[in-house]
Amino acid sequence: MGKKKEKEKKPNSMQNNRSFYMTIILCMIIFMASIAYLIISFNRLISQHDEHLSSEICTLLTEKMNNSLRFMTDSAKDISEVLSAQDFKDLGDIYRKLSTDKRGDYVGIGFIDEEGVLYATTEERYEFRKWNLLSAATYDQDITISAPYRSTTIGQPVITLFTSFRYAGGRHGTMFITYRLSDLQDIVNTESLTDEIEIWLMDAESANMILCVGTARYAIGSWSNAYLSMQDINEEYKEAYDEWHKSMVKGIKSASLTYKIGKINYSQFCAAIDNMPGWYVVVRIPGNALSATMNTFRNYVLIFLALLLTVVILLIINMYARNRKENRKLEQLSIHDPLTGLLNRRAFDNAAQQLVNSGEPSVFIFFDIDYFKQVNDLFGHDSGDKILKTFSEILKSHFRGTDLISRYGGDEYVVLAKTDSVPAISRTLAAIRDEFHSVKSSDFSSTITDHTFTFSAGAAISPADSSEFEDLKKCADEALYKVKEFNRDGYLWYDEAVKPDYV
Ligand code: GH3
Ligand code: MG
Repeated sequence: MGKKKEKEKKPNSMQNNRSFYMTIILCMIIFMASIAYLIISFNRLISQHDEHLSSEICTLLTEKMNNSLRFMTDSAKDISEVLSAQDFKDLGDIYRKLSTDKRGDYVGIGFIDEEGVLYATTEERYEFRKWNLLSAATYDQDITISAPYRSTTIGQPVITLFTSFRYAGGRHGTMFITYRLSDLQDIVNTESLTDEIEIWLMDAESANMILCVGTARYAIGSWSNAYLSMQDINEEYKEAYDEWHKSMVKGIKSASLTYKIGKINYSQFCAAIDNMPGWYVVVRIPGNALSATMNTFRNYVLIFLALLLTVVILLIINMYARNRKENRKLEQLSIHDPLTGLLNRRAFDNAAQQLVNSGEPSVFIFFDIDYFKQVNDLFGHDSGDKILKTFSEILKSHFRGTDLISRYGGDEYVVLAKTDSVPAISRTLAAIRDEFHSVKSSDFSSTITDHTFTFSAGAAISPADSSEFEDLKKCADEALYKVKEFNRDGYLWYDEAVKPDYV
């Protein structure tokens, strides 16, 4: 490629490249930003969804809990009224009768008589002592509900209700009845969330909480503390957690909270239990449990988008590579002679002009094949083409890759050799002549065997003959003309050609 051409071309193609890469980068940035926005929106939606769902579940559980407590309270009162109406003389009899003939949903039932004698099983006595339940059993109140605790008999969380009752002609006793908190577990089972959900009953004041439904990590009925749980959660959520708990202490009806433990999102919700002042149902659900489908959907969308992006990028790269290849082909065509592959006239002139103008020593040589019209007539046009190609190959083999060689038009060739050595170029020209002579005409025709191919050439040297490209060309042309004028089949230097005595 000519240097000037190169100079003109390079910035253009560089600019094209730059704008192409800029467009790709811009598209990527827009695409990535859209994906990031999508992920953020998705995650926000998922967390809203989780929060909403966990609050729904918690509300449902709290309602159920309130209903259960209402039922327990009502049935405890009913049993107490029925027993009071029968005015039993001996509490031992009725206790034994109820123990053997257990009909209700309760886990255990028993009495405390006016003198404080306790009618209960050994386990119940142990649990009453352990959890200090009897102190809660006040006689002046209609009904008292204990804090939940784990029953050693059934290994489940239970609560005990204490209610006053009369016997033996108006004596005051207390009846206790223990129920399992089974309704919460039943709901969770029907909601198929057993493996993920944790349901606690929590005393707001102390932040103590007992597990009613939970994962394998904790035993059902085990106690924990909200502040103990808080230690696990990520630092940035601790303040919100604290606020959440404080709002319970103040007696809020319900409150929701979301936080992370490691990388897992949790939704936590509390709702006050009407019949147990200060007590709350607390539900904790990990995000992936509720939004598993949404998470999967989001991941599918992301995978799809990533694949789409890859395909688009591959297509763009492929298109770009093809485009470049075609451009290069066009570029080659625009500066090369299609028959011989040598530089065309325009490309040669551009490059040669630059070289000559730079002042670098060079030799300009004009070649013209002798009697080429005849060659065409003798061998045919196609063979004429082959001979033109053969001559171009000979030129290429005798000059260096850095020299400029061009098919200037028809059977004319020019060379600008980067040298100032007249003897060297003279030797080259002689060698070219010999080689062209040795081309066998039989290679191009089956009938013509004795034709010798010849050329005439004129050479001019820069800056000695001229440091102007057009002038230099004229000098070489003049020398060539001289060779044509006389014998052809030879070469001449300009300074020889202009000598008046040249014959
Ligand atoms: P001279 O010795 O004076 O140069 O005689 P010449 O017959 O070679 O005359 P000239 O250089 O003017 O003629 C060039 C001829 O080259 C004319 C044309 O028929 C032939 N020619 C030009 N281009 C092509 C080509 O691409 N292929 C073939 N086969 N011939 C071409
Ligand atoms: Mg010719």
